[in-house]
Amino acid sequence: MIRFLTPQLRVETVLELGPDRLRAMGLDALLLDVDGTLKRYRRQRPAPAVAAWIESLRTAGFKLCLLSNGRGRRIGQFARQVEIPAVCRACKPLPYGCRRAMRMLGAAANRTAIIGDQVFADVMAGRLAGVFTILVRPIHPEEEPWFTRLKRPLESRFLRWLAQREAGGAQKSIFLRSPFGVRHWTFR
Ligand SMILES: [Mg+2]
Repeated sequence: MIRFLTPQLRVETVLELGPDRLRAMGLDALLLDVDGTLKRYRRQRPAPAVAAWIESLRTAGFKLCLLSNGRGRRIGQFARQVEIPAVCRACKPLPYGCRRAMRMLGAAANRTAIIGDQVFADVMAGRLAGVFTILVRPIHPEEEPWFTRLKRPLESRFLRWLAQREAGGAQKSIFLRSPFGVRHWTFR
């Protein structure tokens, strides 16, 4: 169960994910969450730096699809602005929207990543669909609708617990040096 909620990569913002870095990870298709990931919930446009990031991915030949639980009209408007196809009302955390987006792009799951700001939507949907999952810190979460804000405290607790678990795992490593070499065990 924990695996389905654990992102393979966590970054502060999409701007850390340049085309070269994504290519080096073996990726060529990206499913992009919209609200909190590419733009603030109440804004219609992405910040100029994010628009430039999208352009750099397009130029580098990445296949891109927006993947949002938002309504068709609002997300469709945004999709036209950034000129990326969109799957709206994606019903994340269910994996069906991811699969539909991958079919639209002709993308293979093992070369696709979902990038989103919510564990209980983006990460879970991506994990269930078998794609690489990247969690970003939400942009201006105070603007989110109540049903998203409701999930945030639980999400924060889960991410803190995950960080402790990872740190704890490292602390419980045992190294044994002997004339025959070094043995290493890690306990969780
Ligand atoms: Mg979001």
